[in-house]
Amino acid sequence: KVKENGRNDGMLYCEEWDNSSLERLTLQHELRQGLQRNEFLLHYQPQYHLNTGEIVGLEALVRWQHPERGMVPPGHFIPLAEESGMIVQLGEWVLEEACRQNKAWQDAGLKAVPVSVNLSIRQFMQQNLIEKVSSILRETGLSPQYLELEITETMTMDVHRATQCLLELTKLGVGISIDDFGTGYSSFNYLKNLPIGKLKIDRSFVRDIQHDPGNASIVAAIIAMAHNLNLQVIAEGVETEEQMQFLKKHMCDEMQGYFWSPPVPNYQIAGLLR
Ligand code: C2E
Ligand code: MG
Ligand code: MG
Ligand code: MG
Repeated sequence: KVKENGRNDGMLYCEEWDNSSLERLTLQHELRQGLQRNEFLLHYQPQYHLNTGEIVGLEALVRWQHPERGMVPPGHFIPLAEESGMIVQLGEWVLEEACRQNKAWQDAGLKAVPVSVNLSIRQFMQQNLIEKVSSILRETGLSPQYLELEITETMTMDVHRATQCLLELTKLGVGISIDDFGTGYSSFNYLKNLPIGKLKIDRSFVRDIQHDPGNASIVAAIIAMAHNLNLQVIAEGVETEEQMQFLKKHMCDEMQGYFWSPPVPNYQIAGLLR
């Protein structure tokens, strides 16, 4: 779809874009503008306790409501935001908005559950991350136990730095989980030493749990290992009853996926938490 905008650059507004440098520059410029113009919003995907079926958390997932391109999924702009460094500003907005919204839900008398926010490596590397997080908690009034930060295995490669940083976050009282677990370079040695609370099994292992015995063993092993290390474990991308049954059988703690709910706009959450 090409937007008629009276300019002779309709190609810049095609819904599909490639990786040409012109496209990237345009998109970078639009990202910066989008931040100024408040074009970003958060959707929330509920996380469920596998046995009770209760909502035990919400993951905040950023969306870009672009004036011409429509709703842009994060896969299309997060990498560019990372590359250009803009993710730091965007990520801070996400963190603040998620905390503010979660506090508002609590103030409205809805069930209190933690909100999970994805951190990018750039944010994780910022010297002032701890101050940022603690000032956002202070300003929004959200109690730290209701914030969880998702990091990836890659961010823990510098074990010493990651440990320091995560210890300070833990001291603040926020929860830490490892996202997309199993897809990065993990050394089991870091797992036992890092101050983390939860592993999120990547969707790629859950996807064909029924048909791929290799994936089934990997998922079962991750759950068992997590529990032996006193970590909670949540499965991502659960789409079918069979996947859910498999996870139950293997004592997974929580699940997140289209089977129970896709990410939804904030106004739909109240109905789910009531
Ligand atoms: P993620 O953190 O692993 O988030 C889970 C992704 O899986 C979400 O995609 C979600 O919509 C999708 N998903 C959930 N359940 C299912 C399912 O049952 N089946 C399938 N096929 N997919 C499912 P989304 O929202 O497009 O986000 C993609 C990625 O973008 C996220 O992966 C995360 O890495 C990144 N992202 C999203 N929001 C943020 C953010 O605020 N900051 C940063 N740094 N990254 C973000
Ligand atoms: Mg995540
Ligand atoms: Mg994930
Ligand atoms: Mg993932």
